[in-house]
Amino acid sequence: MSGASNIYPTAELRARDAAHHMHPFSDTGALNREGVRVITGAEGVWLTDSDGNRYLDGMAGLWCCQVGHGRDEIADAVNRQMRELDYYNTFFKTSHPPVIALSEKLAELSPPQFNRVFFTSSGSEANDTVFRMVRTYWDLMGKPEKKTIIGRWNGYHGSTLAGTSLGGMAAMHGQGDLPVPGVHHIAQPYWFGEGGDMSPDEFGVWAAGELERAIDRIGEDKVAAFIAEPVQGAGGVIIPPDTYWPEVSRICRERGILLVADEVICGFGRLGSWFGSQHYGIEPDLMPIAKGLSSGYLPIGGVMVADRVADAFIEKGGEFFHGYTYSGHPACCAAALANLEIMQREKLVERVADDIGPYLQAKWRALGDHPLVGEARMVGLVGALELVPARGDRSRKFASLGEAGTLCRDLCFDNGLVMRAVRDSMIISPPLVLSHEEADDMIERIVRTLDQTHAALKKDGRLAA
Ligand SMILES: *Cc1c(COP(=O)(O)O)cnc(C)c1O
Repeated sequence: MSGASNIYPTAELRARDAAHHMHPFSDTGALNREGVRVITGAEGVWLTDSDGNRYLDGMAGLWCCQVGHGRDEIADAVNRQMRELDYYNTFFKTSHPPVIALSEKLAELSPPQFNRVFFTSSGSEANDTVFRMVRTYWDLMGKPEKKTIIGRWNGYHGSTLAGTSLGGMAAMHGQGDLPVPGVHHIAQPYWFGEGGDMSPDEFGVWAAGELERAIDRIGEDKVAAFIAEPVQGAGGVIIPPDTYWPEVSRICRERGILLVADEVICGFGRLGSWFGSQHYGIEPDLMPIAKGLSSGYLPIGGVMVADRVADAFIEKGGEFFHGYTYSGHPACCAAALANLEIMQREKLVERVADDIGPYLQAKWRALGDHPLVGEARMVGLVGALELVPARGDRSRKFASLGEAGTLCRDLCFDNGLVMRAVRDSMIISPPLVLSHEEADDMIERIVRTLDQTHAALKKDGRLAA
């Protein structure tokens, strides 16, 4: 779609938005003064704004649009479902064909220990479900003392009370007096930023060891679970050293705590496997999912529940007093089913593993030679560029944290590419349908943007001498 049905001038849309719309994760006052960018249409990996400018969608919407924009097949499936059964709940001993088909499909696509799914409308809700399911599981197992959930600093698990609490974003904790009691955070496996003099492998073992030391301090009989993203997304695409996950996995097993892999970004092909935990060879007990499940066409999430946990709920009996009006919404299930069908038919996961993944990774690594880039890391189709004032010295940061990132991100938009800035890292997570030509085009735009950012920083004397 070109967005041709929009008849309003940008200035008017901005004024109406500023008057009535409060945006997520925004400084509303500042945003209103600056004016929003209005997106009116999207097709494939391209977005169109209300002035007719085109942007390559380097973030796949918000890490979610695996199959690209504008797929009639998904729109048609939703349309058909809405005409047949628009909505019915799944609470009162009822079900419906699309939720049954999607549950079965997810059991088929996920690792063997997963045969059941609990549906939600988002990733945040999925983590609220995780929170209550984990604690209820240990109640059912006769170990009600096992309550504490360990997460990681700078992890992201959504923006509800449970999601914010499990996540480790200090700025988010500051609003609403969070985390809630019974959540503990340990260091993230962020070698570039926090690895000091250790090699990446040594640091991976150390960061995993933080989990074991936390369990020792809190007491094994009081710890319920560890939750982490296979690759931390919103925290800045933190790709753990190879030594990290095998150690974490061993610790969870030996110390008898549940392992929760938040697959909201890593799931559905982002790392070149259906789930990020498969990429790292770990076997979680719970997997929150969302985003790529429907490629963002309609809101749907869920929690994949391993037999070990599901069996406790099923065999010990009793009602789980938890659910959402829209758990397993028929139209959202229809969108997810059509999306997964496209992913399977077009072999998008295999494509990330064998084709576009390696192709983009090679070009991405070459960006590591740019004078502004301290590290260029990527796994599957998700990556980061660490912008630095002086190459070769990981301890040197820009004087004003985030300023270089913001400058680079704004220039990126001017060059027709959407990338996200996390502090002074530039983040990419494109649709899995990205073609080789589009990848080349994207890299060209990034090089141009890096050159411009470098020149601007140099002019202002913000690079190291
Ligand atoms: C986006 C995200 C969430 C939250 O999902 P929402 O649908 O925005 O509620 C949870 N976990 C991870 C890893 C995410 O990236």
